[in-house]
Amino acid sequence: GASYAPKGLPPKAAIDVKHVILVLSGKGGVGKSTVSVNLASALSAHGRQVGLLDLDIHGPSIPKMLGIEDQKPGVLNKILEPVHVTGTLAVMSMAFLLPDTSSPVIWRGPMKMSVIQQFLTEVNWGALDYLIVDLPPGTGDEALSIIQLAPNVQGAVIVTTPQDMAVLDAMKAVKFIEKLEVPVLGIIENMSGMICPQCGETIDLFGRGGGEKAAEELGIPYLGSIPLDPEMVKAGDEGRPYVLRHADTPTWKAVDLVMENL
Ligand code: ADP
Repeated sequence: GASYAPKGLPPKAAIDVKHVILVLSGKGGVGKSTVSVNLASALSAHGRQVGLLDLDIHGPSIPKMLGIEDQKPGVLNKILEPVHVTGTLAVMSMAFLLPDTSSPVIWRGPMKMSVIQQFLTEVNWGALDYLIVDLPPGTGDEALSIIQLAPNVQGAVIVTTPQDMAVLDAMKAVKFIEKLEVPVLGIIENMSGMICPQCGETIDLFGRGGGEKAAEELGIPYLGSIPLDPEMVKAGDEGRPYVLRHADTPTWKAVDLVMENL
């Protein structure tokens, strides 16, 4: 069983993981969960043992993207068994704990923290090479809790769309992460232009280049851009990761960075 510290800072959870990577955005709906799913799938396709922890309580979409939304974690002696997508990819999500996915979740900070602690101490993750953590957008309790509770938090990937507003919020997220002394691995610009299915020309719906400029300004790596692609929506809806069929997404750059540097 887990030991909860009654007062002061809780101890680091005893989860066996070499590298914890956070995926964060300033705003919702920019593709953060998509990047988390693809990053985790790509690392697991490299044969690494990967855990994917979905902490986006307010919009948990990861189980759907992996086609496991009808599954529930097993329970044995009060220890939760994560849902195994493959032999090397295990998932735990807030969504698994909700009675139905359409009901909103209203949890206060301390409650979120105890759920997060439970995810780290009372889930049978096994020995992990990587734990990818999909955080809710913004700079909230979940990020603080995971950084406080998890061992080996070694990097964060920031996802943004090209619009000024999204980029400004992404820059805030970068500064927040840096303040917490977690290295920022880089920024991915998602929904960056759209390839016209008719003529093949690129249409700049939301503009382009905001993510790259922000990365330059902040002195952090720019990992590249992902265009708006109907394939991506389909992949998400059908529960099969896009990255496994597209070798040219910046997610692979993030994977290389993660595997080379950590
Ligand atoms: P977030 O986690 O930031 O809220 P999601 O990853 O859930 O965002 O993405 C929101 C929606 O946009 C999903 O339906 C997803 O499939 C879709 N989406 C994400 N990236 C792309 C893209 N590059 N092209 C097309 N659709 C995308």
